[in-house]
Formats: sequence, structure tokens, C-alpha cells
Amino acid sequence: MIIVMRIGASEEDIRGVEERVRELGYQPHTIQGEVRAVVAAVGDESVNASLEPLSHLPPVDHVMPVQKKYKLISREVHPESAVVKVAEGVEIGGETLHVVAGPCSVENEEMVVQTAVAVRDAGATLFRGGAYKPRTSPYSFQGLGREGLRLLQIAKEASGLPIITELVKEGDIDAVCEVADVLQIGARNALNYALLEAAADTHKPILLKRGIASTIQEWLLAAEYIAKQGNSNVILCERGIRTFETATRNTLDLGAIGVAKLESRLPVLADPSHGAGRWDLIDPLSRAAIAVGADGLLIEVHPEPEMALSDGDQQLQPVDFADLMKKISPFVQAAGRVLSNPSATPVA
Ligand code: PEP
Ligand code: MN
Repeated sequence: MIIVMRIGASEEDIRGVEERVRELGYQPHTIQGEVRAVVAAVGDESVNASLEPLSHLPPVDHVMPVQKKYKLISREVHPESAVVKVAEGVEIGGETLHVVAGPCSVENEEMVVQTAVAVRDAGATLFRGGAYKPRTSPYSFQGLGREGLRLLQIAKEASGLPIITELVKEGDIDAVCEVADVLQIGARNALNYALLEAAADTHKPILLKRGIASTIQEWLLAAEYIAKQGNSNVILCERGIRTFETATRNTLDLGAIGVAKLESRLPVLADPSHGAGRWDLIDPLSRAAIAVGADGLLIEVHPEPEMALSDGDQQLQPVDFADLMKKISPFVQAAGRVLSNPSATPVA
């Protein structure tokens, strides 16, 4: 922490602050500038008391943190990128760019199996579908629950793809873990620390979406909660944030993908489906996310988006998803990555 003294603070004021800093377990190092002094407090903030309340002392102007609050997931502390193994041959965060696809909600057996096989054939390496849906309106479709999990198991067996599905509440953990290879923590629960810790304790890889109005720091600290619990298999997912814009459902924060890659060692996926809420923006936003360094994409795919029980306007038909995979291939290559599916060859 840096304690910035007020202009005109006396020698005695500075000695007083230094004394307080020592009492709190830190070593003070004072730098006397032209106009004012700053006291650098050296020590570990995770074991010592917080220095922020020193801003109450009359000769103190303000107190500034210098240490990052996240440590376990920080690239500063661990420079090498983390690679999260989610299943045999599916490692996220390495050279290969993975595409996660599937319907927003699991609706019935036929659609879920059909979608899983179609996205696998187009090159997706993980199948995602919601059995428990956290909906904005209590009157909207809430997901099939246990039945949805059963259908995901069928889709898993039919396609051979590992499964990502959302964990909405702690009481569902055991049932969700039976089928899920990766637990999704959605935007609405992104700051539910008890749920983050409970999910971490399963030791399953966790796909952590960014909260609707979370700062990047809050998002990374949510990931730190999981890592602190002893589970470092965290995959971040930028899914758009709430802004003043109304042309898109959310604003896909491409800069945040860049920041998350620089600040943390965790893999980062981009979710252009929720990020824009428009199927016609999935292609350009996917290319942009790849360019900015995303380790993968999360795309909603539904056999009949116009009939979907949730998020119909942001889901691709399987044929359009297959087309997308072909279209992004040269961009993946240009970004120095390999697309997960070797059959998705670049389009002319
Ligand atoms: C979803 O993945 O379908 C979903 C509800 O996403 P988010 O939590 O990003 O809104
Ligand atoms: Mn959705």
C-alpha cells in the first residue's frame, strides 16, 4: 500500500503515520517529494490488517493499493498460462482453440441428441446445454432440471462429447456432477461466493462467466475464490456486460478478454451468443474474440432457434454453426492457434 500524505503534512505527522504502519505489521519507507510525502508500506496484506482505514488520519490524503488482490490466478505471480484439462484430449488454454456449443436449454431428447451430434460433426469439442436455467422472469421456462440432466447424459453417450452445464444452486451439486465434466457458473451467480466455493470443492473444472455488471477485478477475484479453495481448473468466460446500449442484449467486452489474458493465467472463452444476443453478430464477434486472444468460444446452437424455449434470437442453426466453424478457421490460424477440429478447413 502507498499512503499519500496531504500537502503540508509535518515531519511529526509523517512519523505518526510511520508508527501506525509499523503497529499494523508493515515496514514504512517514506519518500519525500517536492510537494508531498508518500509512505510505502511493505508487508503481506493477506496476513496483516488492512491499511485502507489509515485514510481516516487527518494528515493522510489517500491510500492506494499496489499489490494485486488475486494471487493464485495471477500471471504476475505465475507467468505461464494455465491449461485446463476437461476430458481426455480436451485441454483448454493451450495451442488449440476449442469451441463449446449446444442449446441454451435442454428441451427434449431428440433436440439435444441431434444438436450434440451436429456440433460434434462440425468441430465442437464440448457440448453445453442448460438443465437448470436461471431466468430473469419467474414465468419463463426454468429448465427441465433432473430430467434435463438425464437427457444430457444421453447426449453425452450419443456424441462422445464432454458436457458443460450450469450449476444454479448448491443443493443440485451431486446430481449435476454425475453428468457434467465442467460446471458452469452463470452470470447471475458469478458473485455468489458460497456457490463458487461449493463448486470448487467438487474439483471439477469450472467455467466462470463474468457477472452482468462485474468489473474485471470482481470477475478475477471470483476466480480466485475457486483457486483458493484448491481448484485451479478455472476457465473464464466473457459473456457481455450491461451497458447503456440497446442494439445488443449485452456489450461483449473484447477488451476484458485481453485484460483477463494479461492479468490472469487462466484460459478465457468468449460467448458471443449472450454477448450480443443476436445470431447475426456471432460470426463477426467470434472472429474479433479470436483476434484478441480468446482460448475458445461458447456458441448457442439449436435445431430450430425460432422454436427455442430460451434465447432463440441468439442461437445458430446447426448448418450455420458448421459454416461458422469453417469461416473462423483462417482467423484461428492467423492468431497462431489450431482449431480443435482438423476437418474444419479454411474456406477459400
Ligand atoms: C446461459 O449460458 O445460457 C446463460 C444463462 O448464460 P449467462 O449466465 O451468461 O446469462
Ligand atoms: Mn442462454
